[in-house]
Amino acid sequence: MNQDTRPVAIVTGASRGIGAAIAQRLAEDGYRIVVNYASNEGEAQRVVATLHATGHSAIAVRADVSKPDDVRALFDAAERELGRVDVLVNNAGVLKTMPLAETSDELFENTFGINVQGTFNTLREAARRLNDGGRIVNFSTTVLAMKLPGYAIYSASKAAVEAMSAVFAKELRGRQIRVNTVAPGPVATELFFSGKTQEQITGFARMPPLERLGEPGDIARIVSFLVSEESGWVNGQVLRANGGTA
Ligand code: NAP
Repeated sequence: MNQDTRPVAIVTGASRGIGAAIAQRLAEDGYRIVVNYASNEGEAQRVVATLHATGHSAIAVRADVSKPDDVRALFDAAERELGRVDVLVNNAGVLKTMPLAETSDELFENTFGINVQGTFNTLREAARRLNDGGRIVNFSTTVLAMKLPGYAIYSASKAAVEAMSAVFAKELRGRQIRVNTVAPGPVATELFFSGKTQEQITGFARMPPLERLGEPGDIARIVSFLVSEESGWVNGQVLRANGGTA
């Protein structure tokens, strides 16, 4: 039995991008971290090594969130290695922009498999296995509000996340578990840069009145707030974090 009583956070998709920044920030907040990844073991182990080097506690666990068995095994590993689960951050996600008419069945299924079923799988598991008083943060996107061409399938997947999140917050009545969603605007990660020209990137950076792209740390600080006592009266909400774009 693990004697360490510090709270534990599972961060899905924490091998890089926003998830890696969330893992770092929540570790600084006093959480022991489960760094989930899908395929980039080297990057996940680097995140864990950085956390260990700064005196924090973390493990890396491979799990494809779109697969229910993998998600069960993810929670099994967290309980076995760290003894408890208090926070779930559903950060893992994929984006490929494509006009709806040109979208293949495979791209639709992959996007919904990871963004929607992935979130469903972890929420269902969390309902059984998160400690009372826990917190959940799901991930949507500001482009859902912007109605941008090319983002129909991705936005639809995140609309489903927002819908599940709001209902789930109510279904957890009596457990003192809060469920909120962050909807970032463009953030400087591989997911955003991939497939964009420099002109498109500059265009996105000019959109917010604050005139820059978001950084992973901007979003990590919001997640930190949403899992803290400071946000104790915020539940079932969507926080659009985009420098004022929408
Ligand atoms: P990213 O840099 O592409 O990183 C994605 C992370 O998700 C990686 O750690 C990846 O793991 C993991 N992942 C992918 N598929 C997975 C699966 N099936 N199971 C488990 N993990 C999986 O993405 P990001 O920009 O940090 O995005 C994080 C979240 O923010 C996503 O939900 C995204 O939709 C949302 N978001 C991003 C932006 C933006 O502009 N960046 C804006 C709005 C919302 P591997 O390394 O193993 O592949």
